[in-house]
Amino acid sequence: MVIMMATVNNPESNSLADWLNTLSHKRIRFLRLLSQIFFFVVLNGAFLGLARMPFPAPVHIPPGSPYAIVWGGFSAIQFILSSGQFPFFALGIFFISGAISGRIFCGWACPVGFWQDTLDTVGSWVRIPKWKVSRRTDEGFKEIPATIAIVAFIFSSWIGISRLKGDIVADNFITRMAWDALDPAGTLFVGWFYAIFWNVVPGDSGFFSNLGSDLNIFILNSIILVIVSILSLKVPRLYCRYLCPTGALLGYCSKSSLIAVKRNPLNCVDGCRECEKACPMDVPITEFGLEGISDTACIACGQCIDKCPEAMSFGIRI
Ligand code: SF4
Ligand code: SF4
Ligand code: SF4
Repeated sequence: MVIMMATVNNPESNSLADWLNTLSHKRIRFLRLLSQIFFFVVLNGAFLGLARMPFPAPVHIPPGSPYAIVWGGFSAIQFILSSGQFPFFALGIFFISGAISGRIFCGWACPVGFWQDTLDTVGSWVRIPKWKVSRRTDEGFKEIPATIAIVAFIFSSWIGISRLKGDIVADNFITRMAWDALDPAGTLFVGWFYAIFWNVVPGDSGFFSNLGSDLNIFILNSIILVIVSILSLKVPRLYCRYLCPTGALLGYCSKSSLIAVKRNPLNCVDGCRECEKACPMDVPITEFGLEGISDTACIACGQCIDKCPEAMSFGIRI
């Protein structure tokens, strides 16, 4: 696969002042920012005294997040499968939320998606030129999250079946939630948090040794995290687009969601494509019309609507 990227400048948000000015003209982006802050605080609300619940949410919350009050849905699925049970409830949450609202949780609620949007914004403030990933490369890389999801499902099922058969299986982070053991978001929200705020590093705490982690894995994961973070300054939502299995599963469940983003071709100017340039997920918006966008990458962020409210809108899929 040939990797082709073009450097593009975002003409709208090249500094903090420009960004604030842009935000004041973008109602949906502003509302979404408020929503992301709200959900970030609530989903990590144990520090406010909110009760923790064993509820699998259709967002990515790395396991071990110190103040998380719910489970990340994909982590819950891996854990339940590796225990030898079928995750009816967790999968049901994905299918129901996807069928009703598509990937709206990705756009408006996920803490890791918020981290990605923040990096994109910071990249714009400090005038880092963006990369435009070519369609061909995008199509290839987009297969990675689904591949991670399938491999994780198979691995967790195999562990679960082994346990049911009575085979001796190690009980650690890798056998319980294999993807999360390598996940750069987990390194940021869990590993680095413990290291920076609580001065706890792998190798010297029961917490990390219980998770089967060690210092070498932590260092490797930290290197991956730094690379992903730097690339995310140049490619909006890079982690969501090319790594996250939670997003892949939500995308699979959301192709025919009840709520969808629509384009009215009657109000559309031929060859304009400004909406596509504004889309952080590189959705080929102009391939869709009033039937609603059914691309699995659409996170219902509404940036295309802010860009072109005359032709783009949220609506009910008929
Ligand atoms: S793709 Fe994953 S990390 Fe991104 S917003 Fe969706 S659930 Fe969160
Ligand atoms: S920005 Fe509006 S007018 Fe331009 S291509 Fe998109 S929908 Fe059509
Ligand atoms: S198509 Fe519109 S709503 Fe969907 S991800 Fe792109 S900008 Fe966001």
